[in-house]
Amino acid sequence: MREFGYLRAPDVSGALALHGADDGTRFLAGGTNLVDLMKAGVERPERLVDLAELPLDRIEETAGGGLRIGATVSNSDLAAHPEVRRRYPALTQAVLAGASGQLRNMATVGGNLLQRTRCAYFTDLARPCNKRTPGSGCAALRGEHRNHAILGASEHCVAVHPSDMGVALTAFDAVVAYETLDGPGEVPLADFYLPVGDTPHAETALPAGALITAVTLPPAPVAARSRYRKVRERASYAFAIGSLAAALDVRDGRVHDVRLAFGAVASRPWRARAAERALTGGPATAEAYAAAADAELAAAEPLPDNGYKVTLMRNLVVAVLTELAEEAGR
Ligand SMILES: Cc1cc2nc3c(=O)[nH]c(=O)nc-3n(C[C@H](O)[C@H](O)[C@H](O)COP(=O)(O)OP(=O)(O)OC[C@H]3O[C@@H](n4cnc5c(N)ncnc54)[C@H](O)[C@@H]3O)c2cc1C
Ligand code: SF4
Repeated sequence: MREFGYLRAPDVSGALALHGADDGTRFLAGGTNLVDLMKAGVERPERLVDLAELPLDRIEETAGGGLRIGATVSNSDLAAHPEVRRRYPALTQAVLAGASGQLRNMATVGGNLLQRTRCAYFTDLARPCNKRTPGSGCAALRGEHRNHAILGASEHCVAVHPSDMGVALTAFDAVVAYETLDGPGEVPLADFYLPVGDTPHAETALPAGALITAVTLPPAPVAARSRYRKVRERASYAFAIGSLAAALDVRDGRVHDVRLAFGAVASRPWRARAAERALTGGPATAEAYAAAADAELAAAEPLPDNGYKVTLMRNLVVAVLTELAEEAGR
């Protein structure tokens, strides 16, 4: 067993000071991903800075009419919050579609966004993986890649991001707030995950040693009519093979506002902006939903064994938008 230091931070500035932007130090939130990776030998920190005592476990109204979700709010508390359920139902559904009750009690908002890929080669130290060991190669390209990316990948890594929560947050234009030793910063979730390119090990736009403090959701009336649909290989306790966060506002048979984000198809939650553009102002029909999905998926580059995801995502878009439109018409 490898020894490591364990420190408890009393507050945000204490956490930043204890971390010190040191390469061998990691923040510990719920530990549901980090500790597993430490057991597998993928993460080998010298010190952990526990965030459990930080006052970041609240969900508050913003002055602009949105919600500010503290970084250490548990997945369970987020899903159960009455204003999240009322204003952003797809977010509640996305969180509840993930993991198990026990895990959701421990897992936090910040940790969920920063969880690592579930590509099996990433945790198999005997196999090449550019994300784990830069320059070593990608075992998935010619190996098992049924659940890998069809959008935005590169020849250096084809892994998908596993978060369900992140997909709904992306659809609703969430912004990640963080603190560093040099001061605060924020980045839209849409820009939070870096393009894969030839640096798949560099995953986010967070500066070294940054502590996520909150995720802010701007007001979005359309989000009140939203849904998260997750497709997986068994009914519970499994990661998505494809998922969709969708919100739809139909007026007089035409699409007034729409939000679409895809999950489990790219290295980040994938905001389907081409599909949104194709739909906005047009007829709210199944044909239009299918054409919009095709517009988004025209950029897909499936691997030999994951072409099914193109059809899966197209069908998801048509099914979920049809349901939302029918419910709005009742
Ligand atoms: C069996 C199993 C099934 C699962 N199924 C799903 C699923 O279906 N869908 C899904 O979305 N997720 C799923 N998960 C993943 C789970 O949601 C994540 O493990 C969890 O959200 C991570 O949160 P955490 O607080 O435990 O993070 P930790 O494990 O504590 O941390 C994860 C990473 O984030 C960093 N970090 C944490 N908080 C901060 C912060 N505030 N600022 C900066 N860095 C921080 C840590 O240093 C670490 O690198 C599953 C996990 C397990 C074990
Ligand atoms: S897909 Fe990415 S995470 Fe998986 S083996 Fe290739 S480089 Fe590693």
